[in-house]
Amino acid sequence: MKQTKTFKVRVRDKHAPLLRQMARSVNFVWNYLNELSCRAIRERGLFLSAYDMDRYTKGSGKELGLHSQTLQEVSREYATRRRQFKKARLNWRRSGGVRRSLGWIPFKSGAVQWKSGQVCHNGHYFKIWDSYGLSQYSFRSGSFSEDARGRWYFNVVVDVDVPPSRGQGAIGLDLGLKDVATCSDGTKLESGRFYCGLEAKLVTAQRSRNKQCARTIHARIANRRKDALHKFSRSLVNRHGTIIVGDVSPAKLAKTNMAKSVLDAGWGQLKTMLAYKCAHAGIVFKEVGEAYTTRTCSSCGSLGGPQGVNGLRIREWTCCECGVAHDRDVNAARNILAAGHGRPVVGIPVI
Ligand SMILES: [Zn+2]
Repeated sequence: MKQTKTFKVRVRDKHAPLLRQMARSVNFVWNYLNELSCRAIRERGLFLSAYDMDRYTKGSGKELGLHSQTLQEVSREYATRRRQFKKARLNWRRSGGVRRSLGWIPFKSGAVQWKSGQVCHNGHYFKIWDSYGLSQYSFRSGSFSEDARGRWYFNVVVDVDVPPSRGQGAIGLDLGLKDVATCSDGTKLESGRFYCGLEAKLVTAQRSRNKQCARTIHARIANRRKDALHKFSRSLVNRHGTIIVGDVSPAKLAKTNMAKSVLDAGWGQLKTMLAYKCAHAGIVFKEVGEAYTTRTCSSCGSLGGPQGVNGLRIREWTCCECGVAHDRDVNAARNILAAGHGRPVVGIPVI
């Protein structure tokens, strides 16, 4: 998969005089086009296209010290802005004075190369603070630009290869309270680790009505949860080609003894993270109904499992039909996986 990214890196200050010189030439070209386009509109009622304007600037690059593609890019930008602002004449670009325009030197792909550790453009070499390892990318269009403090930057669009997920096979996820998520392969993300050691402190803070302290503890729990969810979802996306999640049934929202903030086990967050990470890695993410997933035996399909609110306490059970011992949540995750594959959790109920 191909994607593009824009990098902005700082150009060493020693190149500033040259870049300022080039920026002055760009401003000269811009102002020339502004005059040209304005006169064409006023005298001939004609809106010159970027292509038309190119014919007027062609061949002047050498004299101006600009790359021929920079000239073309300036006309293109001019035509775009004129359309955008719906004006016959745009603002002049000033090279000096208080209302000086910040330096800008655009280029198209092919006008910059990475050569011997430097950016090569129009016969000049520019040293930059390479924080991205630019040598590994192929450059497309971009610009040199100046900020208000006179620092120069090299902005460039590059192609980035997004490696396809190496993950194989599918996995089902059962979302719950004791464990935020239980996978069909038996791995679990325990919710207890989010508030481990903080629960007692939270109770103390709440009893003494120390709101500031309680808020801080809530924030720490939320941070731990977010961190754990990121790691968990990342490892799932890296290891699998398809991820199937059950929608959470209201039965699971039954009363528990846990504090409300702790009860917010982060299902929503986990689903969101999985959805965008899967989309980015090009793997399948599905949500399926989780009706009967707890009650059904994932080995034989009979409805022998725990049910209702009382059933939530039962962690393990043995199927009376086939005799297979189940962890309740792993069994549910397996049924969710089956449902994701289009296999119904239960067959036609026996009347
Ligand atoms: Zn069974």
